[in-house]
Amino acid sequence: MTVVVTRAMAGAGPSADTAEPLLSAARRSVSRPAVFLDRDGVLNEPIVVAGRPFAPLTAEEFILVPGVVEVCERLRRAGFALVVVTNQPEVARGALPPRELARMHAVLRSVAPVEGIYVCPHDDADACPCRKPAPGLALAAADELDLDLAASVVVGDRWRDIEMGHRLGCRTVLVDRGYSETRPVQPSITVRGLPEAVRWILDSPVDQGGNVNA
Ligand SMILES: [Mg+2]
Ligand SMILES: [Zn+2]
Repeated sequence: MTVVVTRAMAGAGPSADTAEPLLSAARRSVSRPAVFLDRDGVLNEPIVVAGRPFAPLTAEEFILVPGVVEVCERLRRAGFALVVVTNQPEVARGALPPRELARMHAVLRSVAPVEGIYVCPHDDADACPCRKPAPGLALAAADELDLDLAASVVVGDRWRDIEMGHRLGCRTVLVDRGYSETRPVQPSITVRGLPEAVRWILDSPVDQGGNVNA
């Protein structure tokens, strides 16, 4: 299911901005584990107002967290597909022009080895299947990129990310930025940033049932 960005931005569904397949069809016959990366607050700096995080609304405000590119490359070398899954309700609210979102993601793609950037451009009132904690974005990625969900990990900074991970049967990593908001329920681990998350992921091999062995 590949939905073009322009159609998704009109409210038709999630947008799948997927790169050209990086592996041959033969090598992709075995499902790979993924790290599903939330965007704001994990890959790029959130804009925090009164303790609450907000998404950047222009490409100029889209600032990657230091060290993110290097740890993405480490995950990629370790065999994980890197997939960005992000709620962007400001699109539905009219505050975030789709062209700015496209500019941000062009920057991200130019520096980090992400295989797909899956965006939910909807708000709660749309009752879509892709706004986290709904699992639609990750399920679309798993289908398109042949991912092994039971061996995959979700990394995010808010309860919606962790809840999505639970629904997918993935391990979950909370990047705790100390926001003043509802706390996520029981991530597998809580860390201070993506580099620490990546150390945990690489030190925690899973068996085929998705159980952590370490
Ligand atoms: Mg976030
Ligand atoms: Zn959606």
